[in-house]
Amino acid sequence: MQSPTPILDLVFPRRCPICDKPVRPYGSLICEECAVVPQPVGDCTCFKCGKPVGEQEEYCADCSRKKHMYYRGAASFRYRSVSGSLYRFKYEGRREYADYYGREMALTFDRFTQEMGAAHVPDLLVPVPCSEQRDRKRGYNQAAVLAEKLAEIVRIPVDSSSLKRAKDTKAMRTMSATERQNNLKKAFHAYGNSVRLKSIMLIDDIYTTGATVDACALALLEAGAREVSFLTFAIGENGL
Ligand SMILES: [Zn+2]
Ligand SMILES: [Zn+2]
Repeated sequence: MQSPTPILDLVFPRRCPICDKPVRPYGSLICEECAVVPQPVGDCTCFKCGKPVGEQEEYCADCSRKKHMYYRGAASFRYRSVSGSLYRFKYEGRREYADYYGREMALTFDRFTQEMGAAHVPDLLVPVPCSEQRDRKRGYNQAAVLAEKLAEIVRIPVDSSSLKRAKDTKAMRTMSATERQNNLKKAFHAYGNSVRLKSIMLIDDIYTTGATVDACALALLEAGAREVSFLTFAIGENGL
């Protein structure tokens, strides 16, 4: 039997994260026909960052060149297949998409933590902080919303206060990888005792070059974290 449609859903029908129209059928998080649009990262992924790689490859081109600060990471979908959805989530106030994102990230979380083993299951989920100025404009930090949704399902506490952005870094979408890294150096600080000796999983909407995750991981490790991994909803493929 289908559960009754909540009255609020009738007044403000939930929008589908892919087509942005009211979801069909009622009560779903994504339309049946839209559910095939997000492209999973697949079975062949980089052992370090979780980007899709070829069958014979252990690491992606980026991770074979670079030493990352984090232990390992995973993502649910290829960025190109969900870029429109993520844009509306970040810039057009579609906070409700987080219900779908969180559910998918929880499935990835289960796979990923099983693969890493019990010793690497995180004690805390830490969202990548957004600048306060940008948070205020949008009304929410998208990474914090995702961390809360994921936490409801996987039952691991969220710590949104220990990691902060130190200065207002410039919008980085147009920068090269090197420019991003320089811009991000010292951009994050971790405070307090709650991260000490903890295994931490950083949560964000997207992973591209890893510069942001590395800068956050460095700050957390300097504050005494035992290990830092990450989980994102989407991940760029090499060359993006
Ligand atoms: Zn749809
Ligand atoms: Zn990689």
